[in-house]
Amino acid sequence: MALIVQKYGGTSVGSIERIKAVARRVADTVDNGNEVIVVLSAISGETNRLVTLAEEAGCVSGGREYDVVVSTGEQVTVGLLSIVLGAMGYEAVSMLGRQVPILTDTFYSAAKIEDIGEGNIRRELGKGRIVVVAGFQGVDIEGNITTLGRGGSDTTAVALAAALKADLCEIYTDVEGVYTTDPSICSDARKLKKISYDEMLEMASLGAKVLQTRSVQFAKKYDVPLMVRSSFNDAVGTLVCKEDKDMERAAVSGVTYNKNEAKISVVRVPDRPGIAMKLFRPLSDAGISVDMIVQNISHSGHTDMTFTVPEGDYNTAMELVTKTAKDVEADEVIGDKSIAKVSIVGAGMKAHAGVASKMFETMSAEGINMQMISTSEIKISCVIEEKYTELAVRVLHDAFELSAGDVEEEII
Ligand code: ADP
Ligand code: ASP
Ligand code: MG
Repeated sequence: MALIVQKYGGTSVGSIERIKAVARRVADTVDNGNEVIVVLSAISGETNRLVTLAEEAGCVSGGREYDVVVSTGEQVTVGLLSIVLGAMGYEAVSMLGRQVPILTDTFYSAAKIEDIGEGNIRRELGKGRIVVVAGFQGVDIEGNITTLGRGGSDTTAVALAAALKADLCEIYTDVEGVYTTDPSICSDARKLKKISYDEMLEMASLGAKVLQTRSVQFAKKYDVPLMVRSSFNDAVGTLVCKEDKDMERAAVSGVTYNKNEAKISVVRVPDRPGIAMKLFRPLSDAGISVDMIVQNISHSGHTDMTFTVPEGDYNTAMELVTKTAKDVEADEVIGDKSIAKVSIVGAGMKAHAGVASKMFETMSAEGINMQMISTSEIKISCVIEEKYTELAVRVLHDAFELSAGDVEEEII
């Protein structure tokens, strides 16, 4: 008997009809002799609706009550699926984060899982029940409800699979797997048979929202095999697993984009030790993570400093930076929310020369200006004007020959 964790995302539980389809798939898995833990998201669009409600009520920057509100979507779906399964003759029991319990720290809206109690789930599985767990939510040591960040149900599923040493964690979504780029903006994106944890980690953190980044970190750390597949059909999905050293690899295996970042430039900052610390310390104290940082060459003791922050933190970041800029006598602070980060990812980059120049040539041929560039061993990212995002993704996907017709062998 295998223990399988199945996670279903928002569109997969988007209506009672869809929930019934999920119940049939879960029931089939049980009929095949497996124990099943199901993790559910809220009905698609519901979490956004709850976020809007919280904001309309006056919530400006998250916090305890914000998480109380936005976590409720998942309570509805786990109850509904358990009812449907029960009506089909399968005993199912729903569990909220605090009933598992899924213990987290107290960083509301971005809480990290610290521990998972196995006992309650094991006891219910032992009674022959299907356990249906609310994704996205946890509880801190004092009993406060927390949430794991948008897309956090993926992390709930993988963390449960790791804690209970499940044989497989299946992520059911509205596409058939992990593609070379977002199939919703590039129709010839190719589904990958396999992708390594490291590449998936880069793709997720650079914007491929098919898996939440933290879920891939968990999967890699605890060696949880992940299968990403569609809840709408039976097509074979994508296996996210350890890197297979023997396989040939292309230089680039995927293209990603992220429109949820904003750029801040501090103009004519005095170029002396301690200035970067003064600028960035208040941001880190406020829990704002700074991504790309570019500092220009110094002219007459002054330099320009440009960096990106998550768009949701833009207003707070602008306030903090404007204050510091005054203190250090910088000339001005310029903010820009209409940017996007486009990246190419591939473990094969390590072994291939000319990847960066090909990316730059491709962008320049389309007249797309790259405002910032950053690289790591397995990725190159650039910041561009947001309106060129889709175009940039498509031309890069083409230039690196990633489409279905271009490659015969699958890569890992
Ligand atoms: P769920 O609600 O099931 O969690 P999400 O909307 O969070 O689903 O993630 C699935 C979506 O991720 C797809 O509909 C697709 O548009 C998007 N996506 C972005 N990049 C990729 C990629 N490289 N491969 C597959 N899907 C991607
Ligand atoms: N419902 C949550 C969200 O929309 C969590 C998830 O879907 O994974 O972000
Ligand atoms: Mg998701």
